[in-house]
Amino acid sequence: MSDKPTLLVVEDEAHLARGLKLNFELDGYAVDTASSGREAFSFLARTEPYAAIVLDVTLPDMDGFEICRRLRDVGDYTPVIMLTARSLVEDRVQGLEAGADDYLTKPFDIEELVARVRSAIRRRGWEREQTAPVGSVLTFGEARVDFDTHEVTVRGEQVRMTKLELDLVRYFAQNSGRVVSREELLKHVWKLANHPNTRTVDNFVLRLRRHFEPDAAEPVHFLSVRGAGYRFLPDGDDDA
Ligand code: CA
Repeated sequence: MSDKPTLLVVEDEAHLARGLKLNFELDGYAVDTASSGREAFSFLARTEPYAAIVLDVTLPDMDGFEICRRLRDVGDYTPVIMLTARSLVEDRVQGLEAGADDYLTKPFDIEELVARVRSAIRRRGWEREQTAPVGSVLTFGEARVDFDTHEVTVRGEQVRMTKLELDLVRYFAQNSGRVVSREELLKHVWKLANHPNTRTVDNFVLRLRRHFEPDAAEPVHFLSVRGAGYRFLPDGDDDA
């Protein structure tokens, strides 16, 4: 196994796959290429975890959204950067909902793709550092949440929270920095698939903001991402 970070490039256009491989190798990565979903999954099954996956949306056997969704469903959070021929908003939303980290429209500048991959990998490493100690106690801002004892304090004051609220906080913490859709939250926290009422999620996020945010109207930890869902930032949002 090479010491270099390894990427999986899933792209069925052979010349583009070759070009991507070459460029990423020049940037210091080892690269595996797959030209179908089936081939991608056979790589994913037999190798060490990849540093990141570059995933074309249109493939001969299954689409990239499906591949990404399947990875996330089995708890694989390798950074995924999706490539698509269309710049439709629905595609972007679908990509984010499938759990992609980033999204680029063809034709794209290869330098930009290399930069995006690098930043997705860096971001994921940073998140791991931030959330690794989560085990049973999460601290962020002025809050401390003990998932074992269900003790929650904010600015030194005890706060009573329901099991479901705590489950939601835990899921956000495990996915810090990543955009999570309402559908994903319903599925993983509420254990409801295809539940039509995503407003449930909004109501609970409001409750978390009231518990934890210095100002619930100007959240810095539990952020809305328009058209996509929510993003949890343990260190707060600098731009807010
Ligand atoms: Ca394609």
